[in-house]
Amino acid sequence: MRIAIVGGGFTGLAAGLELVRAGHKVVIFEKEKNLGGLAGDFKPAGWDWGLERYYHHIFANDKEVIKLAKSVGWPAFFEKPVTNSLIGGKEKRLDSPFSLLKFNKLSLISRLHMGLGLAMLKFIRNGVGLEKYQAVGMLPKLVGPEGYKKVWEPLLLAKFGKFLPTVNMAWFWARVYKRTAGLGYFAGGFAKLAEKIAEEIKKNGGEIRLGTKYKVGDEKFDKILNTGGRNLGIDYLWGQTLVLELNKPLMKGYWLNVLQKNWPFLVVVEQTNFINKKYYNNKHLVYLGNYLKDKDKRLKMSKDELLELFLPYIKKINPNFNKKWITKKWKFQDPYAQPVFPVNYSKQIPKIKTKNDRIYTANTSMVYPWDRGVNYAVELGQKAAKAMMLV
Ligand SMILES: Cc1cc2nc3c(=O)[nH]c(=O)nc-3n(C[C@H](O)[C@H](O)[C@H](O)COP(=O)(O)OP(=O)(O)OC[C@H]3O[C@@H](n4cnc5c(N)ncnc54)[C@H](O)[C@@H]3O)c2cc1C
Repeated sequence: MRIAIVGGGFTGLAAGLELVRAGHKVVIFEKEKNLGGLAGDFKPAGWDWGLERYYHHIFANDKEVIKLAKSVGWPAFFEKPVTNSLIGGKEKRLDSPFSLLKFNKLSLISRLHMGLGLAMLKFIRNGVGLEKYQAVGMLPKLVGPEGYKKVWEPLLLAKFGKFLPTVNMAWFWARVYKRTAGLGYFAGGFAKLAEKIAEEIKKNGGEIRLGTKYKVGDEKFDKILNTGGRNLGIDYLWGQTLVLELNKPLMKGYWLNVLQKNWPFLVVVEQTNFINKKYYNNKHLVYLGNYLKDKDKRLKMSKDELLELFLPYIKKINPNFNKKWITKKWKFQDPYAQPVFPVNYSKQIPKIKTKNDRIYTANTSMVYPWDRGVNYAVELGQKAAKAMMLV
């Protein structure tokens, strides 16, 4: 068969590789100049490795992408960076049962309650059945009222805002169930892995057209896989990052969840506390990240305006921080960064095979109950390829 794949993100690339390895002729259309989609990168002069526009790591149990990366000779490596939470103005480690036990911002009873609740979620092997509950309804009971009020509610509210009542409990289960202490990355970044997959596709006779928007009818294909779509029936949040290149480190950990009310960003990720700064010209790289709703004023702000808004809060994280530490900055945003999965979403998941015999679809709204992730993009792309080869 001659097959068109729309999108050179991980779903499209994984599908493409599966199809060329089975002997089909594949053309991948990517409208941007680079591969990788939401996991794509930027690479200023002087850096050896690119950096994702949005912070990225994989978990130790992300089997599909680990396997795929190995198969193209670009295996993942793993580190155990620190995750902290900013609560009551203090950075507190909160990334393991042990750190939860020591988390003195909650009473001992509340710590035990939360530990037990999270352990129960880890114990459930298939959490789709939880989708009939709203996360806001079940969580206070599961993790305890104090743990919910002080930890989870601020985090979820900052992320979902007015959409929070929509979010179902299966989504929350999946986040907890899949978390591992070890976090993985790829030499050169996720976009480097995308390039390696693309090389393998080309070696097997596939074609990749960068900077080319797919247009229906321009060319004849037996089948088309669209990985650039979305589920029109659900809400999405924008993703936004302000990335700072610094002369000095901002914090000690890799990840900082901001559990403070009314902060203008909800997460701080210091890439160079996970990946060695030698790959980035010995600079320190920090993301200030947000999920935003359509009309949020931060979407219209320039990177300088965002920095001015963020500065007083960055100083709260590190009182020694000085604007002069900043050597460069970038702003990125994308409208369909985070799908919001409502109660009983499994009944609304689009099917890979559409009503048109020749057209197939695969996108982040279809990896549910998992949250979007490169591992699931790979798994879905491979599944779509198999479905296309069936008939
Ligand atoms: C803030 C943020 C943090 C994340 N963190 C992680 C993480 O830590 N770990 C992880 O595993 N995942 C993470 N993800 C999720 C991960 O990036 C995505 O799940 C994954 O990249 C989705 O791949 P995809 O190919 O399905 O879609 P996309 O990456 O969106 O790719 C679709 C591609 O289709 C192209 N396209 C669309 N229309 C057309 C057209 N008409 N013609 C040609 N091309 C077209 C687009 O340009 C795009 O490149 C994160 C995402 C965000 C937003």
